[in-house]
Amino acid sequence: MVPSSYPCNPPWLAAPTDTNRLVPKLWAASVRKSDDGELSVAGVPASLIAAEFGTPCFVIDESDFRQRARAFKHAFAGADVYYAAKAFASLATVGWVKDEGLSLDVCSGGELTLALRAGFPPARIAFHGNNKSVPELTLAVEAGVGRVIVDSAVEIDRLADLAAARSMRQRVLVRVTPGVEAHTHDYIATAHEDQKFGFSIAGGDAFEAMQAVAARRSLKLVGLHSHIGSQIFDTSGFEVAVRRVLALHAFGLSAGMSLSELDVGGGFGIAYTTQDDPARPPELAAGIRATVDGECRRLGIDVPRLAIEPGRAIAGPSTFTLYTVGTVKRVSLDGGLSRLYVAVDGGMSDNLRAALYGADFSCTLASRRSTARPMLARVVGKHCEAGDIVVRDEFLPSDIAPGDLLAVPATGAYCRSLANTYNHVPRAAVVAVRDSHARVVVRRETEADLLRWDVDDVADPRPEAEGDPA
Ligand code: PLP
Repeated sequence: MVPSSYPCNPPWLAAPTDTNRLVPKLWAASVRKSDDGELSVAGVPASLIAAEFGTPCFVIDESDFRQRARAFKHAFAGADVYYAAKAFASLATVGWVKDEGLSLDVCSGGELTLALRAGFPPARIAFHGNNKSVPELTLAVEAGVGRVIVDSAVEIDRLADLAAARSMRQRVLVRVTPGVEAHTHDYIATAHEDQKFGFSIAGGDAFEAMQAVAARRSLKLVGLHSHIGSQIFDTSGFEVAVRRVLALHAFGLSAGMSLSELDVGGGFGIAYTTQDDPARPPELAAGIRATVDGECRRLGIDVPRLAIEPGRAIAGPSTFTLYTVGTVKRVSLDGGLSRLYVAVDGGMSDNLRAALYGADFSCTLASRRSTARPMLARVVGKHCEAGDIVVRDEFLPSDIAPGDLLAVPATGAYCRSLANTYNHVPRAAVVAVRDSHARVVVRRETEADLLRWDVDDVADPRPEAEGDPA
């Protein structure tokens, strides 16, 4: 029997009538539950993945990832769709992005090196970052990356000198801050933004940066870039930003600059829990295009080539994390209530999002069916932090027990890429599943891997001399 109310659950989380059922919008397309309650992806059961690859483990539905990439490419036909590698990048996934004909946004020498190693065409790469070093910019220029998005006056000089020394002309976008901060369902429009990225439009810094780029013969200013936030669920924030950026674009044109591109960044939201209802790529494309077209008409300028940079919306929903339950503890709360603490074999080392931004996730028992009553649970990790939470609130069957498998959906973005080795816990493997076949795409780290980085200057440890008889 499900109690009618749980005073400590968040208002959006209703007690389910059946904890075995999946909420389809949270899972990759091929994820199913069998009659005996076992989760599978692309025909491969969770127990098989756990047995073969161990837990915790990130499990990607490859076809789902590719399909989401294709959906953006299709909806934004005629625009450049840059997959944001920061969400999650590996040789395999960058290869899928290449196959599907998307472009790639990288923001460090490491991501660029990975992309080049994966054979990604440099002309389809955009290089971001507020503090690109000389070696990073050198790598980018020499590799022939298609666009560098400049973010400071120092960088403009650095890049211009590097390109000039190689008799090259580097295409550049100037990153501007339009004074729009979008997060989930709300956005805030202000004049100035007190943040490290970009050049302020309102303060005049952005136009100065455009002039500085235009003045250097080794740089070719092709357009403006803005990125307004993350987990954005509708296009209203983009619309305000687009108007402000296009006004500057038009001003640049009137000053004789040959601007032809407009990159509106990423930030498209996904469903982490039942409370999230993200827009689909066609709706996003229609909203953004309508604003760009309307505003260009109003300003009397040609419509620039559009670019977007989705990361989370491609990688996030394609993946779940598979854990093994280690301990279960019932913790008494005020008023005679209790909460089930379910500890898994990972935590803030493989999913920092709850600890970092209080993000919500969902989860399900993945290895069996249960008819036990739903109980409000908190899924926690194994790290030495009270804030080591993976799923803050979820209803799980009250008989969940050590050895059960637990799956957390929508962990494909900003989880493995933010993974860390806190408490010397090795980072989890990434497994891709397609057509009933699972394979490792990023291998699990071992404790030996971690020890490789320590300088062992106690090569010949001797017994302590202290206290030895003379
Ligand atoms: N582009 C830029 C410049 C970003 O900073 C980010 C994320 O921080 C993205 C794209 C990708 O955002 P998302 O993964 O939310 O789509």
